[in-house]
Amino acid sequence: MASAKQQRGQTPLMRQYYKIKSQHPNQLLLFRMGDFYETFAEDALTASSVLGIVLSKRANGRASTVPLAGFPYHALDNHLPKLIQAGLRVAICEQLEDPRTTRTLVKRGVVEVVSPGVSLHDNLLSPKQVNYLAAVHWAQHRRRPDNVGVAYVDVSTGEFMVAEAGTEQLDDLLQSLSPSEVLVDKRQKNRLEAMRFQNYVITPQEDWVFTHDYSYEVLLRHFGTHSLKGFEVESLQDGLVAAGVVLHYLGEAQQGHLSHIKRIAARADAGHMRLDAQTKVNLSLLSSHREGRQDGPLITLLDQTHTAMGARLLRRWLGAPLCDIQAIQVRHNATEALFRDAQLLAAVQERLEGICDMERVVARICTARATPRDLAALRDSLERLPSIKELLEMQGSDTLQEIGNELDVCSDTFSIIKQAIVDKPPASVRDGNIFLDGYLDELDALRDIARSGKDYVAQMQQAEIERTGIPSLKVGYNKVFGYYLEVTHVHREKVPPHYIRKQTLVNAERYVTPELKEYEEKILTAEDKLIDLERSLFVELRTRVAEDASTLQQSAGMLAILDCYCSYASIARAHDYRRPVVDDSLRLFIKEGRHPVVEQLVDPFIPNTVNLDAERDQIHVITGPNMAGKSVVLRQSGLIVLLAQAGSFVPAAHAHIGLVDRIFTRVGASDNIVAGESTFLVEMNETASILNNATRRSLILLDEVGRGTSTFDGMSIAWSLVEHLHENARVAARTLFATHFHELNELAERFERVRNFRIQVQEHDGKVVFLRTLEPGSADHSYGIEVARMAGLPASVLDRARQILAKLEAQPIEVGTMRAPESTNEASAAAVQLSLFAMEEAHPVVERVRTLDCENMTPLQALITLAELKQLTMET
Ligand code: ADP
Repeated sequence: MASAKQQRGQTPLMRQYYKIKSQHPNQLLLFRMGDFYETFAEDALTASSVLGIVLSKRANGRASTVPLAGFPYHALDNHLPKLIQAGLRVAICEQLEDPRTTRTLVKRGVVEVVSPGVSLHDNLLSPKQVNYLAAVHWAQHRRRPDNVGVAYVDVSTGEFMVAEAGTEQLDDLLQSLSPSEVLVDKRQKNRLEAMRFQNYVITPQEDWVFTHDYSYEVLLRHFGTHSLKGFEVESLQDGLVAAGVVLHYLGEAQQGHLSHIKRIAARADAGHMRLDAQTKVNLSLLSSHREGRQDGPLITLLDQTHTAMGARLLRRWLGAPLCDIQAIQVRHNATEALFRDAQLLAAVQERLEGICDMERVVARICTARATPRDLAALRDSLERLPSIKELLEMQGSDTLQEIGNELDVCSDTFSIIKQAIVDKPPASVRDGNIFLDGYLDELDALRDIARSGKDYVAQMQQAEIERTGIPSLKVGYNKVFGYYLEVTHVHREKVPPHYIRKQTLVNAERYVTPELKEYEEKILTAEDKLIDLERSLFVELRTRVAEDASTLQQSAGMLAILDCYCSYASIARAHDYRRPVVDDSLRLFIKEGRHPVVEQLVDPFIPNTVNLDAERDQIHVITGPNMAGKSVVLRQSGLIVLLAQAGSFVPAAHAHIGLVDRIFTRVGASDNIVAGESTFLVEMNETASILNNATRRSLILLDEVGRGTSTFDGMSIAWSLVEHLHENARVAARTLFATHFHELNELAERFERVRNFRIQVQEHDGKVVFLRTLEPGSADHSYGIEVARMAGLPASVLDRARQILAKLEAQPIEVGTMRAPESTNEASAAAVQLSLFAMEEAHPVVERVRTLDCENMTPLQALITLAELKQLTMET
């Protein structure tokens, strides 16, 4: 900031700049000057390095010079994404009055602050992804110190949600929301920074915003209500503080243009299946949890939507499958109706195809940034609605009929736009020619003048020639005098007295007449007036359409749902998916199931049947050599459940699914190793989370648990885990357990609801042929060396490996000495007595382990205990 002394010597313009800049200290200020956005001082250095634009200097009166870097206004679309991607927040300062109308310094002000979480610029948004701005608030109540209020908004669509969670679930919640920006009380920034999932910009806020009274007031003012009762969010007090913070921040960023945020709702976790980010990655919903927002191969395959609203909703549906049987059946019904009627499906999709991103267009309309093309796109979209409505009302499915009934075609708004703007209006209001001829008399009159200016000049020239008898009289135009009549000296005598002489040339005189001046005034200002008039008519029209925002948003929501059903039906037809049965049993019967993604990649894909039942066949231990197809069986089972409960048909000949409340996966070594955590720790974290959170309704997919440590440890852990899941009624969930430890087949002999399966392989001349079929039975030995051969390991290494294997197999590890607990009551992971412990009974570590209450430990407590145990081994 310039000092007072410096300011005195500054030019008025720079004083204005610094005044505005002082209100936006943490933002890069783009300062509009004529056709340019300029940045000064520090901002100029940043802008020039991020954008690669030239850095120069501007004189600032006696106060010396300031660094300057700028770009033409039309390059904003290009440059803004680069600034935001560089993690900057950008304040856009515009000229608030027409420079032609003022003789003093043009008034300027910030009209918008763009940040990763707050943007309505198309180049900053991806059509198929939501863009959330979130706020978190730790209220630190004495009774619930860990309760966090969370609110999130997608300002590009107007969706606004509130939730509460325990600190432990916050990571999961943030992962599933994947916000671009998170607001937090500046005093609690460290707490947010300690979260594992960090794929967002953290924007600290002043602490006074995080108070109940202030937030509540902001919310009531925004919604114009006396209470929030109507939204059914009042019980979420901490969440509402966060919601107030979100609105406060948005209010500043959008300068109050938030009328498209019409409601706030509580996030309904209860009716949805929880999927942690790792499970989403394991099931190919996301590409990797580090990136967080990237589609995985499953979504890429399944997305057959035709609108951007549908694409976003589909991602939400697949990311949060339902846990309510009736709601699931509603989706299946609708999908089935479209699946069975190919003509209907094609007709609906054909109409959806041309529909614009109504949610975002409405948001732009309400925030006063919609262009003439946006309104034209809305008009063309609305034009399609009546025929969609008709199609839905004429067919037999109740669910689709309901959509048809609820789809408001917004006919008033449609006709208002239709009667106003031309078929293909220009992109910018500045270009004029937005409105149809005949829309308004004043507009037509101005257009006549502007268009007929040339004709008029020609006519006048002819009339004057005839009137004066001067054949060479010409009507001309120059910038200094405007329109004039030119008469050569030869005819000077014939010039009528009312001509006013303006200029003498070598061989001619130039005159004006009052009539000519009057017309000149009209022609020259007509163009300007026309643009001004069209602009104000446009603003009027936009404001009028904004009044219908709620209905438009609702219709957009209906179309999104319809689009998702169509997408489900298309996929089911294209890839032969079938309608699953979902009920409240504890079964999981998948007949000839396929992996939706892998079946597209390998030919032939071998379908497999899985038949689990928490009451009889609870746990399947699946053995088979590496590469046999164990993971594929596990993942396809998870995916089929996920798809079924998201309302889709499934890749199987038949599926009978007892409602699943949560899918847990523990699959192979994961990405976290890159982040510096050891595979073993990650494994144990995830395993502990399963033991703590699974219920009888869950589906647990365990792939090679224990691989991250030595064989013996790994096997022991795997054994005790299966035992725990079998013996504890609370977590007796349907479980598929893939392992290459064939020793674990012994579990089936000891535990009633454990079954052995293996993936068939054949050996020919010492080589393995994968048959990929799952069949009951146990494996006899591991085929790791064969896989190594296929991977191209040298023969000498393989020979040596065979020798070692033969030796090892001659002295098998004695898993058989593991003893099961006497009764289920006594059961817990710690109660399993391993021979290792039996040998070292007196050791303090063993004593400590015996007393552990693993069932009630959090992953963090487990880690701390582990560290303590390590300390103990060093001390003793
Ligand atoms: P594992 O978990 O046993 O090591 P995977 O499940 O990863 O093996 O399968 C290895 C590969 O085998 C897959 O990438 C796929 O190409 C192929 N595969 C697996 N299951 C099938 C199947 N049912 N039909 C055809 N190919 C399969």
